[in-house]
Amino acid sequence: MQRTPSAAAAVKIPPSCLSGFDCTALPLAGNGLDLAVDFALTCRSCNAFAFLIFGFPIVAPDPSPYYAVEPGQTFFRPPHKLRCSSCGAEAALFDVRKDGYDGVLNGGASYESGTDGEEPIAGQFKVTVAVFFNVEFDELSELAAEANVSISNLFDCITIKGTPVNGGEDVELSYECA
Ligand SMILES: [Zn+2]
Repeated sequence: MQRTPSAAAAVKIPPSCLSGFDCTALPLAGNGLDLAVDFALTCRSCNAFAFLIFGFPIVAPDPSPYYAVEPGQTFFRPPHKLRCSSCGAEAALFDVRKDGYDGVLNGGASYESGTDGEEPIAGQFKVTVAVFFNVEFDELSELAAEANVSISNLFDCITIKGTPVNGGEDVELSYECA
């Protein structure tokens, strides 16, 4: 299986929201999606792979207005940044208001962003970021040229996955950006 042209372009030039990190595109798995690219992130300063994942926590009221979030459950709103567990270097990772298809072209996707009370999710995580490209390559190339960005910046979905370095459940933060 081969990647789609848009995904192949993103392997060559990763989305600029990942520019604060060293990114390695993971090989396409046998059952992987050819329209997606998974990047493993490491610290640009010290090369370590364990991070704290930050967001803006909120406890869902009853009834919960948030999809797949139960009343009383805490969830972490974007924007998200990472802090290296070894050297403390920090870099922005994803802001729904400016990253991805709707962020670049339409002034943001319809998710609530946090502004106060940024906190790390409990634990240290190995982080991979999957970006998805469902739009046709020709259309995406044209839009990217008009917006003066790389094709990879126009991902329509992103999943930030944290695997705890000391065991436990994975954290997944997914956003539809188109
Ligand atoms: Zn570091």
